[in-house]
Amino acid sequence: MELENPYAPPKAELHESPRQPERTDGWRDGSMLVVPKGAELPDRCLKCNAPAQGYRFVRNLSWLNPLWFILFLMSPLIYIIVYLIIRKRGRVAVGLCQRHRKLRGQAIAIGWLTMLAGVAGILSPVAFPTWNPTIPVFGGIVLLLAGVVGGIVGSQVLIPKRINKEFIWLDKVSPELLAEYPAWPA
Ligand SMILES: [Zn+2]
Repeated sequence: MELENPYAPPKAELHESPRQPERTDGWRDGSMLVVPKGAELPDRCLKCNAPAQGYRFVRNLSWLNPLWFILFLMSPLIYIIVYLIIRKRGRVAVGLCQRHRKLRGQAIAIGWLTMLAGVAGILSPVAFPTWNPTIPVFGGIVLLLAGVVGGIVGSQVLIPKRINKEFIWLDKVSPELLAEYPAWPA
């Protein structure tokens, strides 16, 4: 936490917005929120701007320029090694309201249930040897993948679109929350 300096000039004058809120540093860059690494955002839900009631969602984020994906197509193993060496990392703490916490929990639960249903489908020929296994096994694989992807996407709160030495760009942020930040000085 930063100590308040009572002799510091008022920060509000630096910004154009008349509804100057008590924000930590942060800027809006198009539809993205730019925050310094290690930032703890105010007590507002990142997704809907509702009060977060003190709850903070904290994550260490990793990001690698998507151009490196070309390397993945050539060699997934080398890509993973390169990713682990040169990925950019940064930590951020954001507020999340009760409703969005619940939605995240539901997405994780639905993802797991879908994966379990997929596993049941894949294993069903063992329990019912007389069945034609094609449909339950194929359907099971689809459900398993859908559960993994759906669970990951549905539970993802922080979506880094870029990380550099100092800052993190976050996507899928509440437009109302975003509107309260000054524009990113390009
Ligand atoms: Zn919310």
